[in-house]
Order: sequence, then structure tokens, then C-alpha cells
Amino acid sequence: MVKETIRVYARVKPLGRRQQAGIYSVDDNEKSLSSLEIIVPHDLADGFVNNKRESYKFKFQKIFDQEAKQDVVFDSIAKPVAECVLAGYNGTIFAYGQTGSGKTFTITGGAERYSDRGIIPRTLSYIFDQLQKDSSKVYTTHVSYLEIYNECGYDLLDPRHEASRLEDLPKVTIMEDPDQNIHLKNLSLQQATNEEEALNLLFLGDTNRMIAETPMNQASTRSHCIFTIHISSKEPGSATIRRSKLHLVDLAGSERVAKTGVGGHLLTEAKYINLSLHYLEQVIIALAEKNRSHIPYRNSMMTSVLRDSLGGNCMTTMIATLSIDKRNIDESISTCRFAQRVALIKNEAVLNEEIDPRLMIVQLKKEIQELKDELEMVTGKQRTSELSQEEILQLDELIETFLEDNDPDSTLDVGADMRKIKYCFIHVKQLMNHSKISDKNLFSQHISEEKDTNKEAREEVKKLKELLQQRDNEINILVNMLKKEKKKAQDALFQLNAASAGSTVLEQSLSRNLEESQRPSNCFSLKEAKDFRSSFHRLPFLSRQTGGKMSLGCQEAFEVFKRDHADSITIEDNKQLLKQRFTEAKSLEAKLNEVRNRINHLKGEITQRHIQRAALAVSSLPEELNVLDPVEEKLRMQIEEEKTSYKTMFNRLKGLKIEIEHLQLLMEKVKVKLQKDFEVWWSEEAINLQQDKPEMVSSPNTTTVYPQFIKSSQHLSTNSFSEITRAIPNEDPSGKNNSITSSNPTLKTRTPPSSSMSVPLTGDSQADADILAFIKARQNILQKKGLGNK
Ligand code: ADP
Ligand code: MG
Repeated sequence: MVKETIRVYARVKPLGRRQQAGIYSVDDNEKSLSSLEIIVPHDLADGFVNNKRESYKFKFQKIFDQEAKQDVVFDSIAKPVAECVLAGYNGTIFAYGQTGSGKTFTITGGAERYSDRGIIPRTLSYIFDQLQKDSSKVYTTHVSYLEIYNECGYDLLDPRHEASRLEDLPKVTIMEDPDQNIHLKNLSLQQATNEEEALNLLFLGDTNRMIAETPMNQASTRSHCIFTIHISSKEPGSATIRRSKLHLVDLAGSERVAKTGVGGHLLTEAKYINLSLHYLEQVIIALAEKNRSHIPYRNSMMTSVLRDSLGGNCMTTMIATLSIDKRNIDESISTCRFAQRVALIKNEAVLNEEIDPRLMIVQLKKEIQELKDELEMVTGKQRTSELSQEEILQLDELIETFLEDNDPDSTLDVGADMRKIKYCFIHVKQLMNHSKISDKNLFSQHISEEKDTNKEAREEVKKLKELLQQRDNEINILVNMLKKEKKKAQDALFQLNAASAGSTVLEQSLSRNLEESQRPSNCFSLKEAKDFRSSFHRLPFLSRQTGGKMSLGCQEAFEVFKRDHADSITIEDNKQLLKQRFTEAKSLEAKLNEVRNRINHLKGEITQRHIQRAALAVSSLPEELNVLDPVEEKLRMQIEEEKTSYKTMFNRLKGLKIEIEHLQLLMEKVKVKLQKDFEVWWSEEAINLQQDKPEMVSSPNTTTVYPQFIKSSQHLSTNSFSEITRAIPNEDPSGKNNSITSSNPTLKTRTPPSSSMSVPLTGDSQADADILAFIKARQNILQKKGLGNK
């Protein structure tokens, strides 16, 4: 990459015959930059030029004075640029100056003498000369000739030029690609294989320019002309192409519009020229400024086309043409000022190398074929680009064996065949991807399954919990039933011990002799009826509150209630009757036992008699055996009598038993009625108590509150519940009149229900509540009987 500022040269045109020379001096320094000093004549000091200053100094790369010949100018200015272009860099040489200052003479040359040839023909000559000399590369040369007039581009090499006016030609337009490269549409690239062809094209273009120019349309002075030499080069066999172009630019006259002094059409032209160069100046100012990000290239066609040449990838050279006669001093100074600014612009020229894809393909194909040939020679086998079906199958097997082999040292050997190696890699990759995908699927499936499983598990746990709860309840019920049965058995045992021995005998005899006496086990047994009193201790609703132990208050209240109950007489009568019957049954049982013993004794005597008779017959009187034994007859008669007596007594006992069972059922009935009555009474008492003293109970959700029975139904043991259902078969299913009510067991006993009594409270809320409830109940009873102390 070559990074350098735009080289700026100055060329002073020789004075015409009638021109009055301005005062200037050239300081030509071989080592450093040359300087041009322009002295403003005094008679012009009041005119266009700022009269405060008399002389202006400008620095140039080199200053070509009036005597400078075209060959010298070419050698100094164009030759180095042409060399760069041949090397592959872009180059631009442009001439800037007022009309008539020698721009066209410098760029194209004078038409009169061969020696007046300008930069373009000399460069063409030089380039083709060089191309001919260099046989190491293949060069292709094209030329294009563009004229920009009034912001429109025209192709000066268009063959239709001879028959048309400039304005009638198809316009050259600017196209910009995504990489911001400029392309010129409708600008022809004419190939020039040698100097002659190229010069003919230059001549053609210049002729076209001349034809289009009329006295009214002095295009040559007001248009920009860009002659471009395109060179592409490549080394034989290489796909790399170097492309470069050299713009040789003859700009329009830089004189200001004001000075032209023309109107109408010409003024418009002058304005355009000015405008176009004005934009060029803006671009140059912008490029000269540091940290300037936007360069207004797009403002004019000329700056767009020269974009690369100004601040881009180009070796650029400017020639400031000066016509330093007295009248043009101001324009000359203006041109020099412009040149000073251009001199500040830095360009970065890079080698324009690119690879030709077509060439690359051809080259690679050739290389492949060569390698194939070589391989065939080495292996002795002809090798196609594709593997055969047989080879693929073999490879598949090899891969499978390799993958299944657990030996870490196992290798997959397919030989030095890239096709096979590649196939193996692709196959293994496919297998990997497949397993990845299936893993993924499996994973997502697993996740969804897990989700499902979690959901299922939760539901399962819920179900199991419910089942567990059910089982717990069942176990509780069974345990309580077991307890109940145990207690029953214990009670039975206790009563059995307490009862007389005859009872046991009676029962034993009954069970032994009377098959019909075997009753279902759930029937009320005889021994259970023996102590009616004891049955009250098992009042379900009394015992359930204290886990079998009736609270003191409740027990006492029940005793009182029982005593005052109307049925208590019936119960007492029945009890007496039952006692009587029981005693009778016991004595009968004893008598039955006695009869049975006597029968047995008589039977034993008969047997004895038989033995005696048999012995007698054997010893002395065998005929005795055929005679009836009167003793035996008597004994048999006695047995018959005893049997009759036994039967009578047994029937009587049987009758007694039925009677006893009946009495027991009656008593059970009465007992249940009594219990129920007590409960109803008790609940009434409790309601009354609640109404009298609502602060006694803190249970907002309860309609019926029993001070000492308060217990949540959920906490009721199933034992208690089953006893209740048995004891109170006609319970209100709605639960309204039930003694068991769901309520808060917490009681608040702030004041005793009876202020007249001093009650020793226990401190246990339940017991205290019982006591208080009882006191209240007893007061009520006494009041009813007219005994209460009001
Ligand atoms: P421009 O293109 O800048 O308008 P031209 O190149 O047409 O000016 O020059 C105007 C006239 O001056 C032409 O006739 C040309 O031959 C002559 N001329 C310009 N420069 C030189 C020079 N260095 N030596 C001899 N004649 C010149
Ligand atoms: Mg000209």
C-alpha cells in the first residue's frame, strides 16, 4: 500500500503575442518543493485582487515554466503515475486552470506538431512500450472516454457520435454497488491491443468532442473530459488478476461566472461549470480536514467518478495550469490556492488484485486431473470420485465393528483413501446426530413422563392417604369393638363370680340339657340381667365423655333423674319379679341337679343288680336269669318317677327362663327409655342453662350445648358411637335433638349457675361444668317438686 499526498505541479503557459506579462518568479529547488511567487501589479491593486498584499507564494512539487516541453512534463508528471498503474495501482492526473491556460494542451496536446503531444498519447505510447517489454505477464488494455457536460455524462467513444449531437447520445449514468463502488452505465470500454489502436480511439473521442462543439456550445471549455486507460494483468497459469486504471482528466475552465459576463444560455453553463468545480473544491476541502467522516462525493457526477482518485485508492497528481498575463493574475492566484488545498489530500493506493473464478476453476480441474493421474500410477488402481456400493457396505460393517469394540486401542482402518475416510466421518457424524436427536426426544419424553408420573404420584399419594385414613378409622373401630367385647367378657366374669354357684349350675345344666337354650350371642344374657344397676354404669352417653368413667355431676344427675322417673316403679317391680324368678330358677336348677343325681344313682344300682344276678346264674341258678328281678323292677320304677319329676321341673325352668328373658328385654327397654328421657331432659337443662348464663359456653356455631357432653363428633370414639346407636335407636337423624353435638369443648365458667350455693370447683373445666350443670338440674327438679329453696 502506498500512502501519500496528492502531488501538485504547476505549469505556466507561454505568453501570447499580445499578452502583457504578469510579474512572477519561480524558485526551482531540486531537493525540496518549488515555490511560485506572484506579484500583483500596482495598477491592478485596486481591482480584483486584495491590494493589501502585493505578492503571493505557492509551493508545488515542481513548476513547469513557459519553456517547459511536453516530453519533460510527461517524464516528470505522467511517467511515475504510469509506472504505478502498470504495477497494479490506480492513478489519476488532472489538469485544473482557467480556460485557455493550457489544460487540453497539457493533457491531450497540441494538434500542430508531433512534439506537442500531450500526456495521454505519450502515456499510451509509454504503457504499450512497457507492456511489450514485459513478457512475464499477460496484459489486457481497454480505454474509455467520458465527457461530463452540465452534469451529464457522454461516451465520446460511442460509434453513433458522428450522426448525433452530444445531447442526443445516451447518457452515461452512475451506478453504485453495495460496496459503494462506482459503475458507469453506458460508458463503453474499448479494447486497445496496441498503441495505434489506443491513439485511434483517443483521436475518435477528440473528434467527437469537436463535432459536438458549436460556436454556441463551447463544450470544450465548459465540460470535463476523462480519458481512462484500463489495464489488467496476470501471470500465465495464475488465477490472480491485477486490475488498474489511469484517469487522465481535462477539467473545465475554473474561471468564475461573474467574470464571464455573459447571460442566458452561457450563463447557465458557466454556473454549472462553477458548480461542478465548486463541488470538487468542497470534496477537496472535506478531504483536507481531519476527522471529517462525510465526504460529499455524490454532489456531482465528476466527483463521483473521481471518487477513488480523491482521497481513495489512487496515486493522484494535479497539474495547475496558469496563464500568467496581467489580466489573469487573479485567476492564477485562485488556481494556486486551490492547488494548495489539493496538496493536503492523502491517498492510499492499494494493489487491486482479485481472483478470476473461471480461471481458478480451470486451474483446479487441471490440478485434480494431474493428481488423479499420479494416484493411479502409484496405486495401480483406477479411482472414481464416488465409492462403489460394495465399498460402502464394507465401510458400514467396519464402522459398526469399530463402534461396538470396547477396546480403547481399536482403530478404524480404511486405508489411504480420502473418499473412504470422508465417508467414515460423515457416517459417524450421522450416527452421532441421530443418537443426539433420539436422546433429546428420549429426554423430553422422559420429562413429560416424569411430569405425568409426578401428577400420578400425587394423586396416588392422595388416594393412599385417604385409604390410610379409612384404615385408621377401621382399626379404631375394631380396637374399640375389641375393648368393648373384652369389657363385656370381664363384666360377665365378674357377675358370674358374684352370682351364686347355682346360677352357674343352672346355666350349665341348661346348656347341657337344653339344646334350645343356646341363644344367639348378641341376645341379652341371663347373667347380664342379674344386676340391672350395673348396666347403668355403661350408659353410653355418660361413659363416652370420660372414657368409661362417668363424670361425678352427670352420674349424680342421672341417679336423681332415675329415682324420680315414672318408670322407676316399673323397673323396680320388674326387678323384684326378675329376682324372684331368678331365685326360683336357681332352686329349680338345684332340684334338677338333685333329681339327675338320683337317677344316676338308681342307674348305678340297676347295673350293680345286673352284675350280681349274672354272677349268681353262673355259680348256682342259671335259670334265675330268665326270671324278672323285682329289685330291679323297683329301681326302674323309681327312675321313671324321678324322670317324670325331672321333666316337670325342667319344663318349669324352661318357662322361668323364657319369663326371665322377657323381663330382661322389658327392663332393657325401660332402661333405654330412661336413658333417652334423661338425655332429653339433660339437653333441655343445658339449653336453659345456656339461656340463663350464655357466658357459660363459648360456642358460636352450636345450637345445642351440653356443658359436660360437649365434644366434637369427630372425636367421638366409635365405641361410644356404636353404644349410642344401640342405646338410642330412635335418634333424630338430623342431629337436632342429639345429645352429641359438634361444638367447641372449651367452656368458660365465670359465675356459678346458682348464687345461693357455694360450689367447690375442681379447676377442671369439664368436671366443674358437670357439677354446675348438675346443681342447676337438681334445683329445677326440686322446684318442680315444690321443694326447691327459691
Ligand atoms: P485550455 O484547454 O486550458 O482551455 P488550451 O490547452 O486549449 O487551453 O490552450 C489554449 C491555447 O494555448 C492553445 O492554442 C494551445 O495550443 C496553446 N498552448 C497552451 N499551452 C501551451 C504551451 N505550453 N506551449 C505552447 N502552446 C500552448
Ligand atoms: Mg481545453
